[in-house]
Amino acid sequence: MNTPDSPKTAGFLDCPACGLPAEIVDRFTFEGSPHPVEHAKIMCLAGHWYTPPLDYVLTVKRAQDGRERAQRQRTRGAGVTQPPERGATDG
Ligand SMILES: [Zn+2]
Repeated sequence: MNTPDSPKTAGFLDCPACGLPAEIVDRFTFEGSPHPVEHAKIMCLAGHWYTPPLDYVLTVKRAQDGRERAQRQRTRGAGVTQPPERGATDG
């Protein structure tokens, strides 16, 4: 299962219990009312596993991706300190 050109592991999110990376290991449809709901089985590195609705997993994953992006941008922005004075304008 070693793929050198794998851009990003799909279905990766933080474990709600321990915060370690968890991934979707299975997906199944849970027959329910008023309609069947697709669930995902996620398992983290510590061995915790859950079977939340797939919609929930995707929502959490999107939220986490957004937060990581925002944190990266904030960190990047904080690292770059602008000079207090403006020099001569170019051009
Ligand atoms: Zn865990």
